[in-house]
Amino acid sequence: MPAVNLNLLPRPEIDPSVDHEIQAIVSGALVGETCNTDLAAGPWNFDERPGYGPGSSMGDVIPTGAPRQGELPLEYREASEEELDARIRAAKETLGDRLVVLGHFYQREEVVRHADYVGDSFQLANAALEHPDAEAIVFCGVHFMAETADMLSGPEQSVILPNLAAGCSMADMADIDQVEECWEQLEEVYGDMDAQDADGLVPVIPVTYMNSSAAIKGFVGRHGGIVCTSSNARTVLEWAFERGRRVLFFPDQHLGRNTAKAMGVPLERMPMWNPRQPLGGSSEEALADARVILWHGFCSVHRRFSVDQISQARAEHPGVRVIVHPECPMEVVDAADEAGSTDYIRRAIEDAAEPTTFAIGTEVNLVQRLAAQNPQHEIFCLDPVVCPCSTMYRIHPGYLAWVLERLVAGEVVNRIEVAADVAEPARVALQRMLAAKPPAGRVEKSGVPA
Ligand code: SF4
Repeated sequence: MPAVNLNLLPRPEIDPSVDHEIQAIVSGALVGETCNTDLAAGPWNFDERPGYGPGSSMGDVIPTGAPRQGELPLEYREASEEELDARIRAAKETLGDRLVVLGHFYQREEVVRHADYVGDSFQLANAALEHPDAEAIVFCGVHFMAETADMLSGPEQSVILPNLAAGCSMADMADIDQVEECWEQLEEVYGDMDAQDADGLVPVIPVTYMNSSAAIKGFVGRHGGIVCTSSNARTVLEWAFERGRRVLFFPDQHLGRNTAKAMGVPLERMPMWNPRQPLGGSSEEALADARVILWHGFCSVHRRFSVDQISQARAEHPGVRVIVHPECPMEVVDAADEAGSTDYIRRAIEDAAEPTTFAIGTEVNLVQRLAAQNPQHEIFCLDPVVCPCSTMYRIHPGYLAWVLERLVAGEVVNRIEVAADVAEPARVALQRMLAAKPPAGRVEKSGVPA
C-alpha cells in the first residue's frame, strides 16, 4: 500500500477561537487544560479587582495606580456572541471612514474579525497614520499601544482603548520613578552621563522596548536613547553602541539578552538591574564592565515556554520546525530552530513551500489563527496548556460594541491621551528608531539567530 501523506488530506475546519476552546475545556466537551477556568467568564467579572485578570500574567504584581475600567452596561454583558457581532458590524457601517479599528495579533478572534488592520503594536500605530481623517482610532490591544497610537496620530483624533484595564504586565515592570532612580544611581557610578570619552562615546544609551509606557519612551528620548521592537532590536542596539559605551535595556530582559548574545556580547557583561535592590543588585565592577544592563522585566506569556516543551515536540513530531519569540528565555531560544518577532513567525509559516509541522512559542490566539489560515501546515502552540495573555483577554466584543455604539451616539469613551511634555521626547525616541538602519550589507530579518 502506498504511503499516505496525512498533511495533504483534507482536514476538518479549524476553529481559530481560543475562547471557544477554553469554554469547551471548562464545560468538559473537550479534553484539554487551561491555566484558569475563569477565562471562560466575561472579563467584566474582574474589572473591579486589582489584578491583571485570569491568564498568563495573573501572578504578576499590578501597580497601585493602574487604570480601572468602570462597569460595562448590562446589555453588553448579557448579549450573545452573535448579537454583539451584529451590533459591532452595524456600528462600524454607520461610522464608516470616521473610524479605524486596530487589532493586535494576540487579540481574541471574536474581536480581531472586526479589525481593519491586524498586526503587532508598531504596525498598527503605522496603520493609524494612514488614516489622518479618521475621527476615532479604536485600538484593540493594550494600554502602551494606544499611547503610541495617540502620540503618532493627529491632535483631533481620539484613540480609544475599549477596556481601560487592558494594561501590559511587562510594560508595568518598568515604572518611570524606578527608571529615574536607576539613572541617578548609574550617574554615581559612571559620572557625567553626557560626557563623551576618547572614542566619542557617552557612558550609557537607554533603549526601551516598544512594550513600555509613554513616560518611559519620553525618558529615553530626553537622555539620547531610542525605542526598539522585536523586529529591529539588533539594528537599534547597533545604533546605540555607535553612540554609547553600554546600553541600559528595558523592560524585557529576555529580548535584550537574546539580541545582545546573538551579537556576540558575553553573558557576564550583561548584569541584571533589579529596581528593588541598591545598584540593581550588581557591583560597581560589574556595572563598569557591562555592555548591556538588563532591566528585571519579562513577559509572563513568553516565560511559560520551556526547553522540555521543545524536547517533547521534537519527540512527538520528528522533523518539527520550532520557532519562538525572542521574549522567551535564552535557553528556549537556544533550543529552538529559529527565534523572531510575531511578523517573522507569520512570514516563516506563509513562506514554507512544503507542508510542514510547526511548533510555535508565542501567544496562543496568534498560533491558533495561523493554524486556521494555513491548513496546508500542521501548526500548534508549544505550551499544551491554553493560557492566553491576561491583558489582551480584557478586550471582549462587549467592550468593543459599547465604545462603538457610544461613538455612534456622539460620545467618546475610554480616550487615551498622552501629555504633550511626555509625548514630545517620546516621539524623538520613536523617530530615532525609524531612522536607524542596519549596517550596509546586513538585512534586518526580524529574527534572532538561534
Ligand atoms: S503578551 Fe506579554 S508583552 Fe504582550 S501584552 Fe501580553 S503581557 Fe504584555
